[in-house]
Amino acid sequence: MTSTSALTYTCVGPSCAWPTATRPTSCHRIDAGDRTVLVDIGHGALQALRGADAPLERLDAVLLTHLHLDHWADLVPLVWMRRFELAATAPLPVVVPEGQAARLRTALEALDALDVLDWITLTELQAGLPPVDVGPVAVTAVALPHSAVLTVNGYRLQAADGTTIVISGDCGPTDALPAFARGAGLLVLEATVPAPLPGHLTPGEAGAIVAATQPGRALLSHYLEPLGGAPQLASARAVCPDVPLAFAEPGVAVAVAAAPSTVRDR
Ligand SMILES: [Zn+2]
Repeated sequence: MTSTSALTYTCVGPSCAWPTATRPTSCHRIDAGDRTVLVDIGHGALQALRGADAPLERLDAVLLTHLHLDHWADLVPLVWMRRFELAATAPLPVVVPEGQAARLRTALEALDALDVLDWITLTELQAGLPPVDVGPVAVTAVALPHSAVLTVNGYRLQAADGTTIVISGDCGPTDALPAFARGAGLLVLEATVPAPLPGHLTPGEAGAIVAATQPGRALLSHYLEPLGGAPQLASARAVCPDVPLAFAEPGVAVAVAAAPSTVRDR
């Protein structure tokens, strides 16, 4: 690790499986000084990243929680943009859950996009292993219940000074996340559905995980647009009243540090 600064989290895409006019699908940006890591890059995320002047030519890595399309659709245009527009020469590090590299290759072959593999370094990160350095952060993974077909990782990203952000992949209710996320300054959780549905969380179920984790603050993401409404947020806050909690919104950044977090717009 090379950075001792705190981490900044910026929501790029908080929508579930389809984008809205203003909200891309899953994408989270983590900055440590001038270093940048993305977690997921779903539909619409690349346009939003360009609009925010994100340093796409010098990304440290893209971590994919899993291979449902709303979590990686814009990886292909990102790689093509870096190659043909930005003339990037270094391959883009891409991290996928255990066993998913071959699945990504198969998907790219089906899309006639196998050339992408020549412009990325593709590695798998197995849940439960010791931290691996990824750009400015040390990363660990937890396996989450979401798909009968795909392996799903949640990621814990920790800076050298101990500042920690945890981002869930898609998941249903699980006891694995609170232990995995303990001590995090920021926990970003999916809250996809208004009523219980296997493989996803309601805001209330997400709030229960927040209550069990006690992070410095929490953001709900991967939501249906109507879930941005006050009643659903209230159902989450009701079960974790002592943790600041909000819906993630594009462009809203959270400075995460050992001291209490602050929120600012940019
Ligand atoms: Zn999914």
